[in-house]
Amino acid sequence: MPQEEGRKDSVTILVPCYNEEEVLPALFARLDLLIASELDEGRESSVSYTLLFVDDGSKDGTQELIREFAQGREDVSYVFLSRNFGKEKAMFAGIEATHTDGLVIIDADLQDPPELIPEMIALWRQGYDDVYARRRSRKGESWLKKTTSRMYYSLLQKITSVPIQRDTGDFRLLDRKCVEALRELRESERNSKALFSWIGFRKIEFLYDRDARAAGKTKWNYCKLMQLALDGVTSFTVAPLRAVTYCGAVVSVGAIVYALYIFLRTLIFGADIPGYASLLVVMLVLGGIELLGLGVIGEYLGRIFVQVKGRPNYLVQEEHHVMRTKDHR
Ligand code: UDP
Ligand code: MG
Repeated sequence: MPQEEGRKDSVTILVPCYNEEEVLPALFARLDLLIASELDEGRESSVSYTLLFVDDGSKDGTQELIREFAQGREDVSYVFLSRNFGKEKAMFAGIEATHTDGLVIIDADLQDPPELIPEMIALWRQGYDDVYARRRSRKGESWLKKTTSRMYYSLLQKITSVPIQRDTGDFRLLDRKCVEALRELRESERNSKALFSWIGFRKIEFLYDRDARAAGKTKWNYCKLMQLALDGVTSFTVAPLRAVTYCGAVVSVGAIVYALYIFLRTLIFGADIPGYASLLVVMLVLGGIELLGLGVIGEYLGRIFVQVKGRPNYLVQEEHHVMRTKDHR
């Protein structure tokens, strides 16, 4: 078991929110219960919680609800982004805005039960830096979604060298070390799963039952998930580029062998006309492989393009931060 180190007294609970007005009241209540239970116990080892809501450009009443909730409280901060930047950027905005010893990332829709946070803190205090929650079950998700996700991750694991945590989302507790490391990774096309894996540190998994969404609708559809999947591959590994190279090599060798065969056949048996069908097939196959290769290169080139523009990851419309003496050392 790892050795204990560093201070572990303050924790920020980061909640990215996008159009979550339906679920926010329930979330506020559950988070307040959590904070209250910590105060009740009044133990020497208790933690002080700060709630940090990052609104990702919601178009419903989310911002008003958060503003109202934060009113007069000294443990609620918020950051409102200037538009919808996506959950990844919203989380990054939160990561950049925390100063506590630990950071818990949790979804607004109560799919990740806040009541588990004390258990995560206990593991963190045993010396782990990244306590990530692994889903034992996934309620309210279709069979198709579960199967495709399983296939995708086993494929991804095969082509990458970084160990990938299965069945984990962003629900986790990160030590200050990890938060600082994540802040250093300034890539603009962020894929948290890849980043959490990449930074390493002492990780421990923690099984939980993922609940169904408490209210409201999921922001994902298959098109977005497909994009996320592609993004996952391109941010974890350059293996597809290599695959295209191998593919090209195999096809070229095949073509040389075939050319030699045709050459010798013509020398020995003379020229003959037939061969349109085989010619067409070969052309189509090669054309397909070429286009695929171009697509793969384009995919990486696009990422480079986005990165070299060097734009900020997100823009802030409005923010409010609590300054607690305990958190700022
Ligand atoms: N979210 C966000 N920006 C977006 C989409 C989602 O901040 O563009 C937040 C959302 O409010 C929620 C979390 O990310 O807190 C997870 O979203 P959702 O529940 O829709 O995803 P799922 O649980 O279905 O994967
Ligand atoms: Mg959800």
